[in-house]
Amino acid sequence: MPGETNTLSSIWHARCPRCRKGNIFKHRLVQFTRFAAMNSECPVCKASFNPEPGFYFGAMFVSYAFTVAIMVAVWLALYVLADPADWIYGIGLVVGAVVFSPLSFRLSRVLWLYWFGGHKAA
Ligand SMILES: [Zn+2]
Repeated sequence: MPGETNTLSSIWHARCPRCRKGNIFKHRLVQFTRFAAMNSECPVCKASFNPEPGFYFGAMFVSYAFTVAIMVAVWLALYVLADPADWIYGIGLVVGAVVFSPLSFRLSRVLWLYWFGGHKAA
């Protein structure tokens, strides 16, 4: 159905949990240096993206879990594909964690907002 969005796609695209239209972040993920800038409220329906001070503290742990998952995935991929020397594992894990950190930062905050933001789906 055209225009229909499901929750997973809204989370992936970092859309407002209430109207599924407004962007949670100010910039696109590809703008690597500004990935963390968030809107304080939905530009479309004015739902708050920062319901209380320190709201996103817990999102750190989600982000940490993502980072661990990414490092395990990188390690597994290296092991299966090449089983390289130890130092290559080291570089691969660091590069993987750094490259994916903006994604895990944003995804963890979006998930946190969906879980605990108190917004009802429209
Ligand atoms: Zn909205």
